[in-house]
Parts: sequence; structure tokens; C-alpha cells
Amino acid sequence: MQKKIIITGGCGYIGSHTVVECLENYTRKNGYDEDYVVVSIDSYLNSSASVVENIKKLTGREVKNYDTDLCDYEKTKKIFETESKDSELIGIIHFAALKSVPDSVADPVFYYQNNLNSLLNILKLSKEYKVKNFIFSSSCSVYGNAKELPVSENTPFGVAESPYAYTKQVGERMIIDFAKTSEHQKFVLLRYFNPVGAHVSAQIGEDPKNPPTSLVPIITLTAAGKRDKMHVHGSDYDTRDGSCIRDYIHVSDIAEAHRLAIDYLVKNKETAEQIEIFNLGTGNGVTVLEAIKAFEKVSHQKLNYELGERREGDVVEIYADNQKAKTVLGWIPKYGIEEMMSSAWKWQERNV
Ligand code: UDP
Repeated sequence: MQKKIIITGGCGYIGSHTVVECLENYTRKNGYDEDYVVVSIDSYLNSSASVVENIKKLTGREVKNYDTDLCDYEKTKKIFETESKDSELIGIIHFAALKSVPDSVADPVFYYQNNLNSLLNILKLSKEYKVKNFIFSSSCSVYGNAKELPVSENTPFGVAESPYAYTKQVGERMIIDFAKTSEHQKFVLLRYFNPVGAHVSAQIGEDPKNPPTSLVPIITLTAAGKRDKMHVHGSDYDTRDGSCIRDYIHVSDIAEAHRLAIDYLVKNKETAEQIEIFNLGTGNGVTVLEAIKAFEKVSHQKLNYELGERREGDVVEIYADNQKAKTVLGWIPKYGIEEMMSSAWKWQERNV
């Protein structure tokens, strides 16, 4: 029986880094009984087939991607049928989802349809094919504008500031309700803060099909001359320099947390709670202007930016209490804001 991990959205930004993390670690060389097979399901809605080739080059290992929309239940079921033959499906890591706050404000129906239908289908199939371990990509946006900072996993949900944030709140709730009907499965919900940066090799990174709306790709595109200038969305907030505060976290640190979450569930199958929630952030709040300064320092560039209007759907300030992930998963984020920026810049320069 081959051991397999199914990663939905494995060609996307965080998904591709997690595929690499799994391929590099789940090997005989690292003490596992065999090299685990990693299978991705990614429709290329916001990614491309070249990512699969880059992953193969980077790891020297095979990875298969099914170019399938998870909202299509029958097609997705066929994948599970094929991949479960003579194999043990160790876990599912479910990334595939849309993630832009402003795009979700502009097209909420598309966001609800895509993010929630795909989750429902993958949950149903995970139960049908007896996949014991399920990791879900959630987000710190579930906390809304929290009253107390840093936010811990016990901080209650706030008002969802965007349809995107609401898809994550509903997604978590769907999993909690579903879990009650599927006692043989365990679930880890990972609440990402702001994943940024790229793999140290610069072979994979953030490469959205639509113009990006996230801060770091906008910074690097502007620095590369692909945009004339960028705007800081709001400079009159009640923060130390007037711009919003976020907890930026290197994408490779986030990827590692997924592997640790699977390991945790496998090693503690008797004792782990059925649902565990972890914040994934560094614990450091960084303003937009501080992020820009860190970029300017490591890239030796002066960024062309202006202070602009506030953006609808933004929370003012958020950063993580990450103690639980550190203690329970043994997760130690390795990278600081300057390394995040330099890896993002290296990725951008490679793609100019
Ligand atoms: N931001 C900005 N200019 C941009 C893009 C983003 O000032 O061109 C700000 C945004 O308003 C927020 C922070 O950068 O305060 C992080 O935004 P991002 O979209 O990267 O992540 P979010 O936390 O909103 O999901």
C-alpha cells in the first residue's frame, strides 16, 4: 500500500510550497517507511501547469496534478476512486480557494460558490474514502477587528469584514458540524495571518493570474517597473504610523506547519482532539509603511508609493498569539520580515 497525501490547490501559492515541503520530508531518507506520494488537484483557476514542472525540478520527485474543479463532485470522486486503489490516503490538505479581499467584495457570489461548494465536496469525499486526517486553510480574517491583541485561537469570531472572510468563518463552522457526523476523522484548522515571500530557490512563489491585490506582490511589481506606483491604503488609522498592521509570515514557514499538522495527527491518533485550531503568524505586527521600508532596505530600491484612501474590507490591526502552534506542533517560524521581502524580490527578479 502506497502512502499518499492529497493536496488541493497544490499549484497555488501556499499549496505549491507545501507540496515541496511534503516531497522533501516524507521520504525514506528522513526515517519514513517509504517515500510518500503527493497528489495535487488544482484546476489552474489561479495557477498554471508550469508550477508542476518547477516542483519536479526543485525536488527531483514526481508529483501528479489533476486539472479538475473541486466544485464538480463527480469528477473529483473519480480522482479519489483512482488514487485510493492500492493506496492509503494519509491526509488531505485543502488549500484550493479564492483569497482576495477586494475581489470577494466585487464578486461575492463567485466567492461563496467556489470556496464553499469545493469544501463541501471534499469533506464528503474525505469521509467516503476514509481519509482520517484533514487540514483546512483558514485565515485570521475570521477574527475581524478583534478587541484585544494578539488574537489567540480562543478569541471569538468578529464581524467578517469581507465575503472572503465570511467564507472562512462558514468553512470552519461547516467542518465543526461535519466532524460531529464523522467520528473517525480528525481536523486541523490553520488560521494563516499574512503569508508572503517565496521559496529560497526562487523556483516557486506567488504568481496570481489576475492582477494581485496583496501588498507584497504589489510592492515587488512596482519595484520591477511593472506598475508605475503603488498606494498605501489608508494612512490615518489609529496605529503607530497611520497604516494598517498585519502579521506577515514566510510562506515556507506556513508550508512546514502543514506537514507538522499531519505528523501531529498521525502520531497522536488516539489522543488528539477531533478538531484542533492553530494560528500561524510570527506574533509581530508590522505596518504597511514598515513593510515597505524593509523591502527598500533589502532590495536597495526606492519604492514609488503614495499615501492613499482606505480600502473597503480591511481590518485595522491584527497579529497572532502563536504559542499553541509552537507548543503543540513544535512549529518555529524561521524567517523575519526582511527575509520575507528578499525572497519575494528574488522571485520577482527571476520572473521579470
Ligand atoms: N495594502 C496597501 N496597498 C496595496 C495592497 C495592500 O496598502 O496595494 C495594504 C492593505 O490595505 C492591508 C495590508 O496592505 O492593510 C495587507 O493587505 P493584503 O491584501 O496583502 O492582505 P489582507 O490582510 O488584506 O488579506
